[in-house]
Amino acid sequence: MDFSLSERELELVALCRDFAQKEIAPRAPLAWDEGRCPTDLLREMGELGLLGMLVPEEWGGIGMSTVGFVAAMEQIGLADQSVAAAWQAHVTIGSLPLLLFGDDAQRDRWLRPLAEGRALGAFGLTEPNAGSDARGIRTKAERRDGGWLINGSKTFISNAGTDMSFGVTLLARTDEKYATLVVEKDTEGFTIGPKMRGIGWRGLDTRELWFDDVWVPDDHLVGDPDLGLNQFLRTLEVGRISIAALSLSLTQAVLDLATDHARQREQFGQPISKFQAVQFKLADIATELEAARWLTYRAASLRDSGQPFQKEAAMAKLKASRLATWAASEAVQIHGGLGYMLETPVARFYCDSKVLEIGEGTNEIQHLVIARALGC
Ligand SMILES: Cc1cc2nc3c(=O)[nH]c(=O)nc-3n(C[C@H](O)[C@H](O)[C@H](O)COP(=O)(O)OP(=O)(O)OC[C@H]3O[C@@H](n4cnc5c(N)ncnc54)[C@H](O)[C@@H]3O)c2cc1C
Repeated sequence: MDFSLSERELELVALCRDFAQKEIAPRAPLAWDEGRCPTDLLREMGELGLLGMLVPEEWGGIGMSTVGFVAAMEQIGLADQSVAAAWQAHVTIGSLPLLLFGDDAQRDRWLRPLAEGRALGAFGLTEPNAGSDARGIRTKAERRDGGWLINGSKTFISNAGTDMSFGVTLLARTDEKYATLVVEKDTEGFTIGPKMRGIGWRGLDTRELWFDDVWVPDDHLVGDPDLGLNQFLRTLEVGRISIAALSLSLTQAVLDLATDHARQREQFGQPISKFQAVQFKLADIATELEAARWLTYRAASLRDSGQPFQKEAAMAKLKASRLATWAASEAVQIHGGLGYMLETPVARFYCDSKVLEIGEGTNEIQHLVIARALGC
């Protein structure tokens, strides 16, 4: 297995490192305090081509490999998890349904602005009564007057209500099956709720959406009218690699912070990094991080070479997100009382870590995916 990056990918990673350290990191605490999605930063990322990472140049993107995207994520997520979360949701679940299943007219109309960084994409699956059980959604789409009449609601939808949001690509139940439909933001009957407040990802714009007799013409149907559920689940497989990459970046961030702190903080007349109890925590995090990194790059590389990657993406997400929550907790422990204070980056990373075990399929659902692949 060789996950070496090409010259072009290395240049992109360097660009992401530079932008993340110079632009994102200094502004991250403010975005956290304000609890607002920093769309100014996302627009700047769009100007650098980063919002169209996985979209080919033909449709306004930069056509990066999945491995290159993971490597870029390691840099962006190191600086701030909210910006990285909004970015990855846009690049994967927000854009890919249109790329993978849309026709050329739809790609030109909705995907191009997303890839060129002029709009943010949102993916509407979860509902108040249906999260893990995607088949249980109740939002209905009925054929009406040459289009579709949509009624229902969605919840926890990321990137749905910012000044850059274009609307949502949603999953709705038809008579027997499920369809993927695009609803643009100013459509009559479409209401966007207030931004929800999480314990982390404070800058991510996550909202409840309501559809009350929303009518869209037939050209808003994406892909096969009967295979919407399958299209959504296939999109989520890529999203899982992305959450695994986000988890790697968080783990690297807390490892760096905890190591620096341990080398500087003195107790009992010496740096706490001299105590074996502290050293072993750091060594364990570093070792597990390498293992999670290999799983994640492997899943990404399988996708890039056109091979099945569902099981590997679930394993990467499971391993990396568990690691991130554990590592963040240990890093706070190494910081002592200081690590509990939201003024410190390590405390913010700690708050950001929990959702990695929940979003884009909980870790229990990753277990199910892996167990099914084993033949259970
Ligand atoms: C910040 C944030 C952003 C999000 N962004 C989006 C978005 O952009 N688009 C979108 O569509 N959704 C989004 N989600 C929703 C997310 O994908 C769901 O929260 C997640 O899939 C879990 O669904 P749920 O919350 O309904 O939990 P539930 O499905 O109710 O699960 C509750 C608990 O039961 C467990 N459980 C459920 N079924 C099983 C089973 N069969 N076996 C074992 N355990 C089980 C779960 O693992 C979990 O621990 C977001 C969520 C958050 C928190």
